[in-house]
Amino acid sequence: MPELPEVETTLRGIEPHARGQLIENIVVRNAGLRWPVPVPELQALAGLTVDHLERRAKYILLHTAQGVILLHLGMSGSMRVLPANTPPQKHDHIDIVLGSGDLIRLNDPRRFGCCLLLQPPVQQHKLLANLGPEPLSTAFDGDYLFERSRAKKTPVKNFIMNGNTVVGVGNIYASESLFGAGIRPSTQAAKISRARYHVLADKIKAVLAKAIEAGGTTLNDFTQTDGKPGYFTQELQVYGRQGEPCNRCSTSIKSVVIGQRNTFFCPSCQK
Ligand SMILES: [Zn+2]
Repeated sequence: MPELPEVETTLRGIEPHARGQLIENIVVRNAGLRWPVPVPELQALAGLTVDHLERRAKYILLHTAQGVILLHLGMSGSMRVLPANTPPQKHDHIDIVLGSGDLIRLNDPRRFGCCLLLQPPVQQHKLLANLGPEPLSTAFDGDYLFERSRAKKTPVKNFIMNGNTVVGVGNIYASESLFGAGIRPSTQAAKISRARYHVLADKIKAVLAKAIEAGGTTLNDFTQTDGKPGYFTQELQVYGRQGEPCNRCSTSIKSVVIGQRNTFFCPSCQK
């Protein structure tokens, strides 16, 4: 599933090709994504320009003078920039045809993604209104986590994976950053000290930044017809390593289910 680093890499891959470009046409081959694609409204954007692009959580937003195209990659989606005459393949549901002779193509086999048209102020749209801060922004730090967690009896892993707390901390990144901070994933969020939250916030930022950096090496994939942008991995310390020795202390990595998600930790390094 595309996580925040993959979405950020997708944005960086398509942005140089789309920013400032005329929208010639928007082709919708399958409007049956997670929510119905508003075909006439999107097609009415023909003749406008993509003024700028941004990412918010795992949404990509394309700003025009008549509304904002909001895209989400769902479970299995990807976007590429291709010459406009490239024949569509299976699951190529939407093309944004640009004046440059390229198109942005959305492929999504499982169709959990979405493509909607939002009107300003888009921050108040129900999909965006309750999102927590961006993990790599200055608004997100240890003080924020500490203050936000005081009444939270939920496990800290659920707390940091909740998009209302902070966006983009998926299961892998939660497990890895908690290992980095030496915090047991099942610990009640309210029982963790300010100092430990400072370490945790720094680890979350570091884990995500490293993944985005790894994605930078795949930017060329966004303009290639063969294959999809690779969903990259980094060297994992605990995630998926149940029964293997901890890289720090050699204790066997344990796996438990927390919040219906597989959770990996070192019982010796994480208290
Ligand atoms: Zn260990």
